[in-house]
Amino acid sequence: MNQLIFSNDFDKIIEEPIDYISNIDDISPNIINNIKDISNKIAIYNICDGTTICSNCFNKLNKNYYCKHCHKSFYHPYEDELRYKNAIMNYNEIDEIKNIEDNIKYYFFDIVKGNILLYVIKEHIYFNNPLTPLPFKTSSLSIQEVWHIKEDYMTNLITKEVTIYNDIDNKIDDMEEKERVYDLLYDTYLCLNNLDILKNTIYKYSLIWEGVKHLKLVKPCLVNMVYAPIHLKQFEYLVKNKLYNLAFDYTCTLNYDNKLKKLLKANLDFLQKNDLDYYHFLAFELCQKQDLDLINYCMQHLYLLKEITETANITVEELRDYFAQQEDFNEEYYVDYNDYLRMLKEEGYNIKDKKNIFPSNFYEAHNKLYLEYTISKDKKINDKINKFSKILELNSYQDDQYIIIPASSIESLIDESKQQSNCVRTYSRRYSNKETELYFMRKKDKLDESFVTIEVKNGKIVQARTKYNQLPSDDIMNILKRWEHNLIIIETNIKESDDN
Ligand SMILES: [Zn+2]
Repeated sequence: MNQLIFSNDFDKIIEEPIDYISNIDDISPNIINNIKDISNKIAIYNICDGTTICSNCFNKLNKNYYCKHCHKSFYHPYEDELRYKNAIMNYNEIDEIKNIEDNIKYYFFDIVKGNILLYVIKEHIYFNNPLTPLPFKTSSLSIQEVWHIKEDYMTNLITKEVTIYNDIDNKIDDMEEKERVYDLLYDTYLCLNNLDILKNTIYKYSLIWEGVKHLKLVKPCLVNMVYAPIHLKQFEYLVKNKLYNLAFDYTCTLNYDNKLKKLLKANLDFLQKNDLDYYHFLAFELCQKQDLDLINYCMQHLYLLKEITETANITVEELRDYFAQQEDFNEEYYVDYNDYLRMLKEEGYNIKDKKNIFPSNFYEAHNKLYLEYTISKDKKINDKINKFSKILELNSYQDDQYIIIPASSIESLIDESKQQSNCVRTYSRRYSNKETELYFMRKKDKLDESFVTIEVKNGKIVQARTKYNQLPSDDIMNILKRWEHNLIIIETNIKESDDN
């Protein structure tokens, strides 16, 4: 613990400032070597053909990510998981290697006079070295952040910024904050060779040093290194139960309630054996079957499948079997099927009836329902427009030559659009929701012929246009101004109780 001392004027007690290393050259060689070790194991990945090459000699690595020329192993890039592709640098064509530039972050812990410090080191890697025409890996390290970690908050010693852990939960919804605390923008690695120093600190129950030994690839972030191990009960539980990947993944987004505890307990052997990470675990939670094929299937469309199975109250297996029977099956099915269920529901079909949710020919049924849906949606809008226009008739106008009437149907809007070459038909939804008022001015002797299209909001004319969006003549504008002056403002914030 750092000491409390009196300020120079002896009028208040302040915390003694904490010593930290601010120059990268002063970092212990032990840590720097660890960083270099990790860095040298980061391969380069060809996003086009999926091959991986050595970052020293640029030769292809073998199946086990080993370079025969340099005699060294690289990190397993977890090719089947998109989000781990960031563990390596990407290029499209071999010429592009010179353009590769990447920033990587390393975390390491240090303890100074009982204070826990977490250093964040940035490595800038680039391959365009002016001294050689060929690509050549060059890297430079710098200290980016130094966090002083306390039980309830942490302070960035460089910027003096304070993060209170209790706030983290609230900030997770904010994408920018999420990217920061999860370090989504960087490849991040944790230096493992001195974690034992945490054993007698506030980390004592976290077993971090135990857990990381079992991870193939540690992708730490501030949340996983600070907040989760110290503050989340599930972290200790997961590490103790040898569910390492889950513990070090997005632990804080796990909803650790009784339901989850039960699920973990009942399937502990299976989960331990496969050491699922967060997304695989979510897939397992969805299908609740000890079946890796099914889990991988769920992984592919996790959120869509979740929505579908919840809406239709069906299992993932039922859905997989159903799709397997459909001809010309493709990936878009999931999105279309989700739409299909939504339309079924909105159109009032029995969503528990298997005949409805599993039609023999999916696309035929989908297209039929879509047509029905579109027509009935339009009909609802049309009914609303018709009702609203009855009220707006209060603002109708006529003199010897002209008449002004509210638009009374979708059809009349389409017709006006066509005659005037304007886009008033696209206002139908807004008009039906009473967000705007639409009127037609016509000549009395040519009632079917468009003349001026008028939009009114809160008793004021927003636009008045003749054909091709031209302004009406001054004479007409004078009539419209007089009309506007006498407009009754229609109270539009009275919501109708029934939208259907
Ligand atoms: Zn090599």
